[in-house]
Amino acid sequence: MNKYFLTEDQLMIQELAKKFADEVVAATVTELDEKHEFPMAEVKQCAEMGFLGVCVPEEYGGAGLDHLSDVLVMEQLARHSSSLASIIDAHASLGSMPILMAGSEEQKQKYLAPAATGETLCAFALTEPQSGSDAAQIRTTAVLDGDEWVINGSKAFITNSTYASTFLVAAKTDLEAKGSRGISIFIVPAGLPGFEVGKPEEKMSNRSSYSCPLSFTDVRIPKENLVGELNRGFPIFMKCVDDGRVAISAVAVGMAQGVLERAAKYSKERVTFGHPICENQAIAFKLAEMATEIEVARAMLYNTARMSDNGVPFSKEATMCKMFCSEMCVRVCDMGLQIMGGYGLCNEYEVERFYRDAKLLTIGEGTSEICRMVVGRHVLKEY
Ligand SMILES: Cc1cc2nc3c(=O)[nH]c(=O)nc-3n(C[C@H](O)[C@H](O)[C@H](O)COP(=O)(O)OP(=O)(O)OC[C@H]3O[C@@H](n4cnc5c(N)ncnc54)[C@H](O)[C@@H]3O)c2cc1C
Repeated sequence: MNKYFLTEDQLMIQELAKKFADEVVAATVTELDEKHEFPMAEVKQCAEMGFLGVCVPEEYGGAGLDHLSDVLVMEQLARHSSSLASIIDAHASLGSMPILMAGSEEQKQKYLAPAATGETLCAFALTEPQSGSDAAQIRTTAVLDGDEWVINGSKAFITNSTYASTFLVAAKTDLEAKGSRGISIFIVPAGLPGFEVGKPEEKMSNRSSYSCPLSFTDVRIPKENLVGELNRGFPIFMKCVDDGRVAISAVAVGMAQGVLERAAKYSKERVTFGHPICENQAIAFKLAEMATEIEVARAMLYNTARMSDNGVPFSKEATMCKMFCSEMCVRVCDMGLQIMGGYGLCNEYEVERFYRDAKLLTIGEGTSEICRMVVGRHVLKEY
């Protein structure tokens, strides 16, 4: 049954991702999480299947598919591994996107094409130690010296940094400009003198995905590594964040689906007072609520992806979607874990990992509070 009216291409990539997630990702995810190990083999296989550049045009090495196809892939990967899905989100929806949206032809050939095929990994570096939600207050600077930009400053929580070859870095280029003006985007290749990637943060969520501090001390990059217009980088980053919010919503829906499947199965197997626990209304009602929440979230998610694919402005909807789907995922994880009782807390049953990972969804790529501020602004402008 094709109840979401997906095209042949979309059904095909969804099936490919599902098979890979069920057969490959599921087998290693718990151990990788326990060891805080990066899923390198899985990322490479995702690259071979085209998952690292689903929306990148074929001329730049991508699969040339639409945003809904990307959403379908992310959803399937996240049914088993939020870390793997988030690594791909940081690479594709955030890291590669500024080059696709605003890069020169030369930048696309040199940096986007190897990223789309998975030859290189990208990172998106906006957040700084003193500015997360208030992203316009970044202090990293880029100053032109002859034919080179000289970058100084630091970044925080940058996903994929340990293995990324290409960093998309936001820096102030007009020190007098207030707010979000005077910020530009640069491509900074890994390994340059003065550019250091710190140790990954020890965090409770997404333990197989590495988010690190970065420091730049007189890092020199060629003049042509500026992406898009000088001092006009912030709107590009924000547009990428819209795409990222759709992708992270797909992670939320996929994770919630993964929890529903595990909790429903467990409820049929676990017997108390002589009956499987699913025969208690208290359990069946929870499963019904979880399934309904997921259905609402998925409808909103697919519609938002379709808006993006049809060129309809979707910034408000992407933010609403991120807010709703991430919070829905936290609620579903809570219900799923409750259904599983004490075993829900044990890593063997996996839902404890989903429960930990889900919390990140309400923080990264715009906290729930910031999402409400953004949506509230749209609403007040409209009515
Ligand atoms: C695992 C992980 C991976 C990440 N990956 C990346 C990455 O790859 N690239 C990148 O650039 N960034 C990344 N981030 C950063 C992430 O986007 C920020 O953590 C997030 O935007 C929140 O910023 P903050 O942590 O500084 O919180 P703060 O901005 O300090 O906020 C603290 C609290 O105050 C609330 N708050 C702030 N301002 C207001 C307000 N005006 N009204 C009401 N409440 C408010 C927030 O909602 C939050 O609850 C990552 C973060 C994590 C945890």
